[in-house]
Amino acid sequence: MKLLDGKALSARIKDEIAEQVAQIKAQGGNVPHLAAVLVGDDPASQSYVKSKVNSCHRCGFESTLIKKDDGISESELLDIVADLNDNPDIDGFIVQLPLPQHIDESKITLAIDHRKDVDGFHPINVGRMAQGLPSYLPATPFGILQMLERAEIETSGKHCVVVGRSNIVGTPISILLSRKASPGNCTVTLTHSRTKDIGAVIREGDIVIAAIGIPHFIDASMIKEGAVVIDVGINRVEDESRKRGYRLVGDVHFDEVAEKCSFITPVPGGVGPMTVTSLLMNTLKASQKEIYA
Ligand code: NAD
Repeated sequence: MKLLDGKALSARIKDEIAEQVAQIKAQGGNVPHLAAVLVGDDPASQSYVKSKVNSCHRCGFESTLIKKDDGISESELLDIVADLNDNPDIDGFIVQLPLPQHIDESKITLAIDHRKDVDGFHPINVGRMAQGLPSYLPATPFGILQMLERAEIETSGKHCVVVGRSNIVGTPISILLSRKASPGNCTVTLTHSRTKDIGAVIREGDIVIAAIGIPHFIDASMIKEGAVVIDVGINRVEDESRKRGYRLVGDVHFDEVAEKCSFITPVPGGVGPMTVTSLLMNTLKASQKEIYA
């Protein structure tokens, strides 16, 4: 079994991005500028945004963090989005999800100018992605593609089983891996909470991508010998031995599955760091007007 070390790979990619940004600066070009909007005090969201801002600094990007308490109204948040859309200094921005219950997330996503939608969630980017047109790819699926590509994992003709159909992971990665592209050209099965005998379906997968949010849902009995296993899940489980009282585990039972598969991503340190790197790659593209003029 080989470990797909997302932490090490993302560090390498960040070095590459930093080098490109240094060249852009030296030539007097447009330095990428990412803004992040954080609403409320959800600890996981705070830590994701912190890591995004730190990564910006590391790569020489400019960054702006807009923090609002969870009492903010939907219209106030829409005004912030409108300001960011109009601000010529901002190349791309994200509104960290989830948002408080009284705010309609899809309204906010739709309000973001698709040319600045570096999370790749706007329907224009999703539609362009589905048609194989240049677009900002959603960060987590983009990170998974990077991992597969850099590890030289053959995807063409393989059966990929995706578990979970969210708009941010399961659905887009199923589209991306079925596209006529490299990585891609997979035969994809998208499974979810209504799939019958899901273990038997997952066991068919040469490549298994788990994005459900249930700790250790996938055990060794569900994995074919030699499969490639990508674990997107990030779940907190109680752990008295840790100072903070919990530890992070994936949707895959790592210890069991690692003995059977050919490649596996750890949690933490697998897909998570790659997600941040993809956001930086999208922002770099936005600043250089690679996708939209
Ligand atoms: P979600 O929480 O929006 O949806 C869960 C999906 O899992 C649904 O499509 C549902 O149909 C499916 N599901 C639920 N129970 C199931 C069951 N018993 N059998 C089969 N399918 C079932 O999904 P999400 O936002 O993609 O998040 C999934 C996990 O991935 C979470 O743990 C989340 O924290 C993590 N995540 C990690 C990253 C990263 O960067 N590593 C990014 C996004 C999400």
